[in-house]
Amino acid sequence: MSIVRALGVPSFLPPYLLEHLQRSGDARLQVCVRDTLLDDRHFRARGGTTRLPSPSAQRGQPARYIHSAEQQRTLPGRLVRREGQEETSDPAVDEAYRWLGATYRFFWEVFGRHSIDDRGMALLGTVHYGRHYENAFWDGSQMVFGDGDGEVFNRFTRSLEVVAHELTHGVIERDASLTYQGQSGALNESFADVFGSLVKQYDRGQTVEEADWLIGAELFTDRVNGRAMRSMSNPGSAYDDPLLGRDPQPGHMEDFVETQEDNGGVHINSGIPNRAFYLVATALGGYAWKEAGQLWYDALHDARLAQNDDFPSFAELTITIAGERPGSGNQLEQAVVDAWRTVGVVP
Ligand SMILES: [Zn+2]
Repeated sequence: MSIVRALGVPSFLPPYLLEHLQRSGDARLQVCVRDTLLDDRHFRARGGTTRLPSPSAQRGQPARYIHSAEQQRTLPGRLVRREGQEETSDPAVDEAYRWLGATYRFFWEVFGRHSIDDRGMALLGTVHYGRHYENAFWDGSQMVFGDGDGEVFNRFTRSLEVVAHELTHGVIERDASLTYQGQSGALNESFADVFGSLVKQYDRGQTVEEADWLIGAELFTDRVNGRAMRSMSNPGSAYDDPLLGRDPQPGHMEDFVETQEDNGGVHINSGIPNRAFYLVATALGGYAWKEAGQLWYDALHDARLAQNDDFPSFAELTITIAGERPGSGNQLEQAVVDAWRTVGVVP
């Protein structure tokens, strides 16, 4: 059906990072990573097939269904908590429930969007997927979270912005279907990071100065020399570790990475538009989801956004939309132009 599915399932951890871990980890880690990579390739070929339960009939109210795969690989697994039910004693289940709720609340309260499709689509999450599975992904119909290996990676539900990132892939798929390859793929990844971070900032009530602008801040165990998977404010600075290598993200077009891997570097070059968003938000100040977030959200479902748009055409679109805003003067437009100039996308 969708371009995303045809080209593969976007997973949270990129293959280059897992491959590095496979080369430098001990025997146990090597097995965890090998199984994860095999699974990821399987899902790239398969795509989502889970049948969704009824949507939420009431606007402003999510319909969450959390399942446990119980270390197997069958989706969606056993239903363990549904909308309105009490907390369980399983932290992965309760985190998935809570963070899916926080993500729903953000899109509803900030943009008036009633779930992924704006028609109350059920939010399905499966936790405890596989044995020590080292990833999280959106498969086209539901979210899936692994437990991690416990040595390098914690369980993937720990991080609100990881859950929000995966759910946002569903929103992107509905609104824009940005092709998951090259620069349009990096824009797809960047949108998921932007809204992932905004969901966290909104949940915590943080201003642009208070926000950490990190993606996956709770994923690493204490043994890893790193703060998170990605930094939107300073791409390339999130981690530097013997087991994982160095964060390869560029923050400027001069350092754009040409590669065949990772669908043409979708998790690498997303650092450039990520930083552009950070620069716009910090130039405006206050709460990032208000003006800057609204602009990016409007761009996401603007009819002028094409499936294969590259960074310059997306930059042009955001500048155009900023200029069309009534009553905002030139401050927003100027902030957007300055940001894209600073990262080298527009001359
Ligand atoms: Zn992603």
